Amino acid sequence: MKKFFLALLFALIALLGVLLFNTVQFKSRQFDVVAEPAPKISERTLENFKSAIRYKTISYGDSIPTDTAQFFGFHRFLEKTYPLIHKNLEREKVKDFSLLYKWQGQNPGANPIVLMAHMDVVPVEPGTESIWQVDPFEGVIKNDTIWGRGTTDDKMNLIAIMEAVEKLLSENFIPARTIYLSFGHDEEIGGQGAIAIANLLESRNLKADLVLDEGGIITLDKIPGITQPVALVGTSEKGYMSLQLSVELSGGHSSMPAPETAIDILTKAIVNLRANPFDADFSQSTKDFIQYIGPEQPFLQKMVFANQWLFKSVIVGIYEQSPGGNAMVRTTIAPTVINAGVKDNVIPTLAKATINFRLLPGDTQETVIAKVTKAIADPRVKISKLSFGNDPSAVTPIDGYGFKTVEKAARKTFQGTIVAPFLMIGATDSRHFGKVSDQIIKFSPMNDPIGFHGIDERISLKGFQDGIWFFEQLIKSIE
Ligand SMILES: [Zn+2]
Repeated sequence: MKKFFLALLFALIALLGVLLFNTVQFKSRQFDVVAEPAPKISERTLENFKSAIRYKTISYGDSIPTDTAQFFGFHRFLEKTYPLIHKNLEREKVKDFSLLYKWQGQNPGANPIVLMAHMDVVPVEPGTESIWQVDPFEGVIKNDTIWGRGTTDDKMNLIAIMEAVEKLLSENFIPARTIYLSFGHDEEIGGQGAIAIANLLESRNLKADLVLDEGGIITLDKIPGITQPVALVGTSEKGYMSLQLSVELSGGHSSMPAPETAIDILTKAIVNLRANPFDADFSQSTKDFIQYIGPEQPFLQKMVFANQWLFKSVIVGIYEQSPGGNAMVRTTIAPTVINAGVKDNVIPTLAKATINFRLLPGDTQETVIAKVTKAIADPRVKISKLSFGNDPSAVTPIDGYGFKTVEKAARKTFQGTIVAPFLMIGATDSRHFGKVSDQIIKFSPMNDPIGFHGIDERISLKGFQDGIWFFEQLIKSIE
């Protein structure tokens, strides 16, 4: 008995030793560089951003056609506001409204980089205009903050890129590599503009060493144990798919219901689906996130993150506690539309539901459909794919040129900010650029923007200033 306890004691000491060793070895990966504060922005730069907000470049979807005058007006605004860009860069219009600029670099043999943004915005939901504190399309400055639809998504990125390039041109700067500026016009409704630009670049055999699009932001107090701001630099993006479930069964009068109706079968299918969630797993981007965030955490959390071999289920448990965290570790299932019946005393013959899935890297549309079919396990439920969908994006390596370049520029711009790779849950235009580059980064250089797709969308003047500075530092640091 004594021998057993001694053995147990030694085993515990050995385990503790391994845990401590791994924790001590878990070193910070933060780029060692001193940030330089952003120069003050001029009144004119501010006016330019305000003007950009005033164009109602709204993507409505199928129901309402595009207001072409707003988009052409926005093009003219860019021409007028950024004369050096329009004098020195080649510009092409793609799919009428999307814009592609080419800024010739010093080294024509080097692979180019692509900076992306989109000029369209989501509509202001009818009935919510009065809840806004300002007119969403007026471009108002209040409390050192710029308010309006599109301030954070995504006109800030677009204007910040234009301001940085125009300024560098005024200083006769020539980038080391060729830089493309790619501005889509319909990101919010699928990104046909970005698809066409990607096809165009591919047809010219262009391979980019970095594609940078909107994505993760700089958050504060969102990551447990971390008190500094964290720049979330997206290195992959979840996939997207919607399935329609439909059940057709002879209906009849509600006074004599059969044991099972179409509605019964459909709702049972949804319940079964929800009761069988996809397995939780760390995608490569989340593993990378842990490698970057773990060493910055207080000792205990650091020990947990440093010893995933032992604590993986603990970490997954932490993620699963919030819907946002849960979405980082699994393919999600969300019933979004349900339809059946027209009258209270008629049993409908047809019941339909739409289920939206966001696919974790590792899953594909095919594997999800197979799993759904198995979970529902009822051939009376027809499963069909709704038109557009896409598999998860490839993962951008964190040791490649693309990530390193963005990481360095972020550290140089945002004082005391931890930079970490992460998995983007939302979709961006850059998902269409897989054939142009294997180094796609999804990052919006914005400090805690507010009201994304919602009410009172806004960004602080400081945030706008830092955003321009980020793009300037990025372009200057390109080698
Ligand atoms: Zn966007």
